[in-house]
Amino acid sequence: MAVQLSLGSNVGVRGRNLEAALAALGQLPETSLTRRSRVYETEPYGVREQPGFLNMAVEIETGLHPLELLEAIKAIEGRLGRRQAQRWGPREIDIDIVLWDDLILDTDTLTVPHPDFRQRAFVLIPLSEIAPEAVDPVTGRTVAQLAAQPGLQGQVLRLDTGD
Ligand code: ADP
Ligand code: MG
Repeated sequence: MAVQLSLGSNVGVRGRNLEAALAALGQLPETSLTRRSRVYETEPYGVREQPGFLNMAVEIETGLHPLELLEAIKAIEGRLGRRQAQRWGPREIDIDIVLWDDLILDTDTLTVPHPDFRQRAFVLIPLSEIAPEAVDPVTGRTVAQLAAQPGLQGQVLRLDTGD
């Protein structure tokens, strides 16, 4: 299944944290990285008084089940040093499951599509690079359409300009 993830880091050497997370994701069982966006510098969201984030989007192919992938993601976050429990707060790495084909899931621990991705520029702008035609099964809109909405939340600046 093709699954799109959003990665963010605003503590430590942020670019290295993103690379370490990518490497760890690629080593999961039945999983391979298929696409990665460029890296974006973005302003903090929710809790404003914290360092800026680097964000990117990646696509994986995985045979894991959604809750298995979530557990694996939490293990990677823990291994890369994430300690703070504060929601929207500073973190070495945050990995969110944004879309999972046409799956709609709402459990205590996992909601797919990610409940807030439709208004977050820092998720949609990187994601639109790698999966513009992916469809949000809840609204029926594509990632490209969502990314083009006026009034998305958060400033986003592309960092690596080389292709
Ligand atoms: P946030 O990403 O909102 O800043 P956290 O990364 O601390 O917050 O995640 C809090 C919890 O959100 C996780 O423990 C996880 O169980 C839950 N969660 C629900 N839906 C998702 C999703 N689509 N992707 C990742 N985590 C999710
Ligand atoms: Mg998260």
